Amino acid sequence: MTAAIAVLGGIALVLAIILSVVARRLDRDTKFTVVEQINALLPQTQCGQCNYPGCRPYAEALAAGEADINQCPPGGTTTIVQLAQLLGRHSKPLNPDNGSIAEPQVAFIHEAICIGCKKCILACPVDAIVGAPKKMHTVIASECTGCALCVEPCPVDCIDMLDLQPSIARYRRARPEVIAHD
Ligand code: SF4
Ligand code: SF4
Ligand code: SF4
Repeated sequence: MTAAIAVLGGIALVLAIILSVVARRLDRDTKFTVVEQINALLPQTQCGQCNYPGCRPYAEALAAGEADINQCPPGGTTTIVQLAQLLGRHSKPLNPDNGSIAEPQVAFIHEAICIGCKKCILACPVDAIVGAPKKMHTVIASECTGCALCVEPCPVDCIDMLDLQPSIARYRRARPEVIAHD
């Protein structure tokens, strides 16, 4: 009888451990999925204006309830509305402390002035700049997210941010007016 109770106790212990592991894995997978869904809504500019070092860290903070939905200027009203819908929160205007909504831009290097110091390459979060040491550098426009992080480090001030020309591929409908519910 004692042996049977001991066996049942052992089985119960093993089942409890298995359930605990499964529950933790499910919780982790759910959090991962939410982060991925949030990250997919963000513009991937990697500019850091949200006060996080990139879009994914901001997505992780949002999923953890540590950040607000109105901290991404490049995403503008469209992203705020989408985040509100996904997370079941009320839409609100962009937080002005994070910047203002601007038209998309692309970096342009004046190659005749560039001294090839590579500082812009080190600053670019998406590897959109190519060039060899002490040779002129150039921006791969199709890869540039317009984050402007390369501008400030340039010692000869030869990088300009240019407005992107309108195109069918970049056409977006007019942003809806957002009503604050604070
Ligand atoms: S402000 Fe927006 S685009 Fe810039 S890093 Fe943060 S989430 Fe990404
Ligand atoms: S080239 Fe400049 S503006 Fe474009 S993504 Fe890189 S750092 Fe940002
Ligand atoms: S930081 Fe300026 S000077 Fe240096 S490689 Fe880049 S564009 Fe050229």
